[in-house]
Amino acid sequence: MQSIASHKLKIYNSLSGKKESFSPISKDYVGMYVCGPTVYSNVHLGNLRTFTSFDIIFRYLSHIGYKVRYVRNITDVGHLENDEDHGEDRISKKARIENLEPMEVVQKYTYDFHGTTRKFNLLPPSIEPTATGHIIEQIKLIEKLIKKDIAYEVNGSVYFDVIKYNKLNDYGILSKRKIEDLIHNTRALDGQSDKKNPQDFALWKKAEPKHIMKWESPWSDGFPGWHLECTAMSNKYLGEKFDIHGGGMDLKFPHHECEIAQSNACFGTNASNYWMHANMLTLNGQKMSKSTGNNILPEEIFSSVSPFLSKTFSGSSVKFFMLQAHYRSVLDLSNDALVASEKGFNKIIDAINILECHKNFSKQTDFDIKKWANSCYTALDDDFNTPILIANIFEVVKFINKVNIGKAELSKEGCTELSQLINSFVFDIMGLQKNEISLNQNEKLDKVMNIILELRNDARANKDYSLSDKIRDLLKENGISINDNDKDSSYTID
Ligand code: AMP
Ligand code: ZN
Repeated sequence: MQSIASHKLKIYNSLSGKKESFSPISKDYVGMYVCGPTVYSNVHLGNLRTFTSFDIIFRYLSHIGYKVRYVRNITDVGHLENDEDHGEDRISKKARIENLEPMEVVQKYTYDFHGTTRKFNLLPPSIEPTATGHIIEQIKLIEKLIKKDIAYEVNGSVYFDVIKYNKLNDYGILSKRKIEDLIHNTRALDGQSDKKNPQDFALWKKAEPKHIMKWESPWSDGFPGWHLECTAMSNKYLGEKFDIHGGGMDLKFPHHECEIAQSNACFGTNASNYWMHANMLTLNGQKMSKSTGNNILPEEIFSSVSPFLSKTFSGSSVKFFMLQAHYRSVLDLSNDALVASEKGFNKIIDAINILECHKNFSKQTDFDIKKWANSCYTALDDDFNTPILIANIFEVVKFINKVNIGKAELSKEGCTELSQLINSFVFDIMGLQKNEISLNQNEKLDKVMNIILELRNDARANKDYSLSDKIRDLLKENGISINDNDKDSSYTID
């Protein structure tokens, strides 16, 4: 049983650009908000990398004793094309193309997202609010911002005045962008926009007559801006200031920068003490992305239909591949890297199986289990460093393999302690699963089956058909079919 006090957890804070000691607002409690998916298409492995990173963070904080309220939203309105304030709503566009109601699109892809998170063994968040379920909260925030004279209405739309905000605050505090550069680099919108300045962002957009996803508001029938939803939902469930706000690196600007501005203008805080960003998964050196098509979908790794992959992979092998890189590093996915990770993961599972079956105990253990466990925890306490944790796990795998061939000693108590620790690192904290048969086990099964088939062939050659049929029937009862042909027999697992 772990205690919070025995861990000196450090978290890299994108706001300060440094690793900082973690100290939550309320002792023993953590409030964490993570931007969830925009449900207009299937999540790809890049999205999954970000959600996996925060799943490990959620699991580890809970493991060391924190009571965590983890809020991860569903974006079902307001996220326009190109992350900008003009263009079509991503969900409306998909509804138009697929000839569906927008809410049918939302339902379809939310369902897909949940299925994927289950297949990859990600824990559900404590609360999963939707943007469309919090329109009233968003309207209230806009009223507050107008009252504070930091937002203005033009033709039924409401915008946040970035230039005015920046006079008293630092717009760019998170992304380290300078407002002068932004002004210089933002192209004018050729009269398309009612904004005072191109940097201003929409809080409420008046809907075109044909637009389906719209709600009544004091300004127009319209819809809320993307950045506003996260401020409204994080505020509702975690308060004006909470502990951790997370998302992918690509959300730092403009999404999170705008969230900070809204929160500062409304409540006088940066919303969260620790802003955390998971880095991108790339494919062929390019960011995996829904809109460009440079991506692999989870289903494609299970069915191997992706042109990028030579075979199928399990969810845990893919997750293990992701966890071999630190969450703040860019990671490039390739078939070879997945194959190598799968082999590594199987080695770990084989070692866990060896420990489970080990009987040949010694009086002592030739391995400092406590020191090893400490170094695993030190890695995790250092900004959730899973690659170092995995390197440590490979060290203990070497020891377990030595024990297996009688070249190292392991006591009964040592075996129990090691089993518990390795299980908690691999299954509880990294959320990997053993359900797949490892390569090694597969090979062993193959060898055993060949022996059985040979014995059965002998029985048939001796005309002992009752024995050969018995073998066939017993195997069938246990899910293995024997296929006889003229010369040979083979088997298939049903
Ligand atoms: P979206 O559905 O586009 O709003 O993205 C959902 C989450 O996935 C956000 O936190 C994004 O930052 C993250 N994300 C998008 N693309 C990638 C990628 N290639 N690698 C890692 N995370 C990503
Ligand atoms: Zn968000």
